[in-house]
Amino acid sequence: MYLSYLIFSDLDGTLLDEDTYDFSEAQDAISFLKRMNIPLILCSSKTREEIELYRSQMGLKKEPFIVENGGAIYIPDEKFNLNGISYQVKHGCRVIELGIPSSFIKKCLDEIRKETAIEVKCLSKMDIDEIVSFSNLPPEQAKLARQREYSEPIVFKGNEEKFNQFKKAIREYKLHLTKGGRFYTLMGGNDKGKAVFLLKTIYQQTYPKGNFITIGFGDSPNDLPLLKTVDRPVVVKKKNGSHMKVDLPNVYFTKFVGPRGWAEAILNLVKEENND
Ligand SMILES: [Mg+2]
Repeated sequence: MYLSYLIFSDLDGTLLDEDTYDFSEAQDAISFLKRMNIPLILCSSKTREEIELYRSQMGLKKEPFIVENGGAIYIPDEKFNLNGISYQVKHGCRVIELGIPSSFIKKCLDEIRKETAIEVKCLSKMDIDEIVSFSNLPPEQAKLARQREYSEPIVFKGNEEKFNQFKKAIREYKLHLTKGGRFYTLMGGNDKGKAVFLLKTIYQQTYPKGNFITIGFGDSPNDLPLLKTVDRPVVVKKKNGSHMKVDLPNVYFTKFVGPRGWAEAILNLVKEENND
């Protein structure tokens, strides 16, 4: 029996600065995790290509990662035991798909628009300048953000009544809506928590003698399922000085904002003696 931590982390507004997408304030804490051999599993609403970019900047190679709000789990490392779990092989990884195709989501949205005359725009149909103005992403990353496979971030125009009408319509199509830092995202029944739970199961069946402690980081409502699934939820402080309201036992609210708060929590919660 050995103990190990598994770190599951959101990106935007959590490990990345919510405006500049910079993570330099967390760099030392990332290096600390690497030295300790503790996996840092990115779990974001971002697309595979966006997450790959940050994984390479952070020097993450073999760690699994979760894309598009739990739409799919990517497993680059052959060592994992996926017995009993169906997967595909894509982009050199084993991929467990939990979401529904974004083409289906777009088709449903077209129907909803016809039925309700609601004005709603998908990120994948925006031009690059529009994405940049909504997200502050560099244009190169905005292109990667459009490559959706399992989810559609949307911008909604209209009053509360229209929004309620929209929510009712998407329920009829069995779609789900979740809120990240900037966008609402439309998707199937997947969420970050389901993906985290399955990945923990995979770690457990790969290392039957392991005793894993999961720590999860987030800042927005789309992180709630993740925070509920882990042993130690961490809510990272926003730039406006607030924390998302979370009513969970054992939750850690960071004192510092964004990546600096992320690093603070890693250094306070990860104890060296637990990893031998
Ligand atoms: Mg976030």
